[in-house]
Parts: sequence; structure tokens; C-alpha cells
Amino acid sequence: GLQVHFPVRSRGLRRRPVGAVRAVDGVDLDVVRGETLGLVGESGCGKSTLGNALLRLVEPTGGTVTFDGQDVTAMDARRLRALRRRAVMVFQDPYASLDPRVPVGRAVAEPLEIHGLHPGASARSARVAELLDLVGLDPGVAGRYPHEFSGGQRQRIGIARALAAEPDFVVCDEAIASLDVSVQAQVLNLLRDLQRRLGLTYLFVSHDLAAVRHVSDRIAVMYLGRVVEVGTAAQVASRPKHPYTRALLSAVPVPSPAAERGRQRIVLGGDVPSATAVPTGCRFRTRCPDAFEPCPRVDPALADRGDGQLAACHLHGVVGEPVRG
Ligand code: SF4
Ligand code: MG
Repeated sequence: GLQVHFPVRSRGLRRRPVGAVRAVDGVDLDVVRGETLGLVGESGCGKSTLGNALLRLVEPTGGTVTFDGQDVTAMDARRLRALRRRAVMVFQDPYASLDPRVPVGRAVAEPLEIHGLHPGASARSARVAELLDLVGLDPGVAGRYPHEFSGGQRQRIGIARALAAEPDFVVCDEAIASLDVSVQAQVLNLLRDLQRRLGLTYLFVSHDLAAVRHVSDRIAVMYLGRVVEVGTAAQVASRPKHPYTRALLSAVPVPSPAAERGRQRIVLGGDVPSATAVPTGCRFRTRCPDAFEPCPRVDPALADRGDGQLAACHLHGVVGEPVRG
């Protein structure tokens, strides 16, 4: 039931609250230890806000987040600091997430200082060297500045920094989106290799379903602030149950004209509605090619539609809350 609503205020001096952007609007989702859960959806669907809210980098306005049995939403500052040692974020833009005036070795050491790990200059620089080596960089580069590195190297530095305090859970928010295609595969392979070696759990946030399906054990699909489908990567990519997932998949480029033949493209009509004016009932109904009678009346629940594959869609049986009022 996780919710992140941002108030919208009127213009002018009074700035009265006039509504809310329902960026995350009642999300139900489990991430299982050791897995990679891909979280996909178009830009603006709330997936980054969701990733941030899990670590309380933005404050949830409703619902709960539970990490390893602890209620994250109720944590005080001290327990939140402890959480942020175990649960970290790798950001989209390695250019923006590194301070251009700070040598990369110091950037990687910063989490060690914050959490009081490997105290003492020599222990700390030994750990930094180990971390740089872990992400495939020469430990000798610690004294250099971010602008001296390529985009892919900078993302490796971002990953070394994220892993410095030995986290368990990593949110990768569009971690490869700003990299050249040739470099994307290298960084994906690195992330996968690190997961195996360090036993990490990933939430892999991306607008790119093609990238996500290759790295994920399971995939969750988000639309307009809500998770609308969850299943194994094979289920979601080969047998999607939600019309929105089908449309997303039909937009994924295929490698050959032969593969293109016989493929049905689903072009969605209209724009994504504003998150300040979410449709009643099924929030996808204004663009859904399959919408039928119950869709405006009943908000479809994210329910098991067979083999553990969850979908919030009445085509598989009407389950959900009737619209009130
Ligand atoms: Fe389409 Fe109705 Fe299913 Fe929503 S519930 S995705 S409108 S068929
Ligand atoms: Mg985003």
C-alpha cells in the first residue's frame, strides 16, 4: 500500500493546496533476498520515486516499507543511518552523482567515513583500492578526478562507492541509461558478477524492458503510480497478462526482419493521464484496447492470475474494489 503523494498548490500568494500528484499510489511489491527484480514502466510512472521511497530518500505519505522485518517508515534518524548502510542506491547519471572537485578515491571512501568503517588512513585507502579493483578499475586511479574518466568508468566508480559499506540491497535507478550501448553490456555484466560474488539483492529500475528482461529473475511493471503486473522474467516477457505489458513488449525492438514478421504491434492511443487526475476504476482504461464494462467501475486488484503471475486486470476475472462516490 505504499504511497507518495506530492501536494500541488495554487499559484499566487495564498498557495492553497489544490490537489496531489499521486506519484506512487498504493504499490504492493515484494523483493526476495538474492534476486534481481526489474521494475519497468514509462518515464513519469513513479518508478524512481518508488525506489527512493524504499530507502526514504523521499518520504512516503502512506503505506509501509519493511526491510528484513523492520518497519522503514517508522525509523528514527539513527536507525535510518544503519539502514542506509545495508540498502543503497546506484544513480542514473554518474556525471551528476560524483563531485567534480573530489578525487574518486575520496568519493569511494566517503561511505566508510559516514559509517565509521575501516578507520585510519591506511586501512581506509586499502579498502578503497580493494573496491576499485572489485569494479575492474586500477587502484592507482584513486587520486584522479571524475572528469578524467569515461562514462562507463564513472559508473564503475559510482558502483564502488555504493558497495563500500557492504550493503545487501541495491536499487539501480536507470544505472545504464546514460551509457553508450557498447558500455551498457559491460556494466550489466559487472553488476551481475558482483551480485554473485557478494550475494546482493537488486531492484533494477529501468524504462528499457529489453535490458531488464536479460538481468531480472522477476519483473514488475508499473503504470501511473501502481504496479500492474508481476511475474518471472519469462512469464512477463513471453506471456504477459496485462494489456499495458503487452503494449510495452510490442514496442521492444527485435533484432531481425524475420522476427518482426508476424509480430503484432500494439500502439496505445492517447497520452499517459496526469498523476494529478488518475482515472476511476482501472487507471489504464483510458488507453486500454481491451477495456470493457467493469473497468471504470472497479479498481482491479493485483491478484494471482495463475502460476503466481500477478496482474491488475479484469480480463482474468473481476477482482477489486468498486469505485466509491
Ligand atoms: Fe484494460 Fe480493463 Fe484490464 Fe484495465 S482492467 S487493463 S481497462 S481490460
Ligand atoms: Mg526515473
